[in-house]
Amino acid sequence: MKTIEDFNFENKKALIRVDFNVPLDENFKVTDTNRIEAAKPSIIKILEDGGSAILMSHLGRPKGVKNSDFSLEHICRTASEIIGVEVKFIADCVGEQVEKAAAELLPGEVLLLENLRFYNEETNGDIDFAKQLSKLGDIYINDAFGTAHRAHASTTVVAQYFGENKCFGYLLAKEIDAIAKVMQTGEKPVLAILGGAKVSSKITIIENILDKVDHLIIGGGMTYTFVKANGGQIGNSICEDDKMPLALDILKKAEEKGVQIHLPVDVIAADNFSNDAKTQVVDSNKIPEGWQGLDAGPKTLANFKEVILKSKTILWNGPIGVFEIESFSNGTIAVGNYIDESTQAGAFSLVGGGDSVAAVKQFGFQNKVSYVSTGGGAMLESLEGKNLPGITAILAV
Ligand code: AMP
Repeated sequence: MKTIEDFNFENKKALIRVDFNVPLDENFKVTDTNRIEAAKPSIIKILEDGGSAILMSHLGRPKGVKNSDFSLEHICRTASEIIGVEVKFIADCVGEQVEKAAAELLPGEVLLLENLRFYNEETNGDIDFAKQLSKLGDIYINDAFGTAHRAHASTTVVAQYFGENKCFGYLLAKEIDAIAKVMQTGEKPVLAILGGAKVSSKITIIENILDKVDHLIIGGGMTYTFVKANGGQIGNSICEDDKMPLALDILKKAEEKGVQIHLPVDVIAADNFSNDAKTQVVDSNKIPEGWQGLDAGPKTLANFKEVILKSKTILWNGPIGVFEIESFSNGTIAVGNYIDESTQAGAFSLVGGGDSVAAVKQFGFQNKVSYVSTGGGAMLESLEGKNLPGITAILAV
């Protein structure tokens, strides 16, 4: 795997795909700088080597139309402050003017291009557009994990014009490494904790992961499809009846493969979906009519704790309960705490995909786990066992 470490950028122009798709407030001020900070190490390496950096990104979904609301110029000042170098901006991303600005860049300088998605050619993976982008740099770096599952011009197609002169940035390399640590080289016992609302959105992940893990904790809303399929009473809990045969099939496959599945044995049931609902702890297969399971119960959490503490590799995707509502956030917080404890005792823990990252940030666990992925969809597709086009393009010679 070729990374930015394998190159010296002295007098070179690095064309780097970053993910500066950051949230802005109504005054176009950046409200979360994480993604810019995450791209900083790669940019600094280029500059310290004596090279220059040409940054390309998308922002929002302008759908092929130039629209100043989505201009990357809004983030230029914040990017300059974070990187510690003045980031120059050019109001386009292809064409003669842009080629001129890139050619005139001096070592140590940084140029930010305008939003790639002002052109439909970007998301269409247009070959001529990619070729125009390729003229801007000597070495291509992909450091945008968040879009690595898209075969867009700047994330995938452009790579073919760089021959050997292409590599992963630090951030993307770290993401690939973290996923490999769970899916390929993880120290046993390997545990996956899958939560969230629906079985249907996690099926492919579960199927792929059964070959990689020793233990699988199933939590959140997914629980009830499994419990009902096993003949339990789930009251008004969320359930996908049409996925019950699949749930049984998963349980059977897990047994055949020697994977231990841990389902909630008790839950916090509520008489409605609100913070001031009446609640009671009940067995997960004896939920009364009119009540719905919205969080894991105390016996369940004690079981989960035992498994988490004995695991050496942990993947966490999806909340354990309705964490957005305080009354039902306890299970998700508890699991975060157990992962913290296990990580401190030497386990490798990866959190990624969709809402789990939001939950981890909300409860301040981001510095307590080994790695929090920056890519929602890209992470989910990796866990499903898919090859991401943005990664394949760098590996191709
Ligand atoms: P996902 O995007 O699949 O990871 O699902 C995340 C959503 O699942 C969150 O918004 C949670 O509130 C929701 N969720 C977790 N547990 C339950 C539950 N027991 N009943 C309903 N929704 C749940």
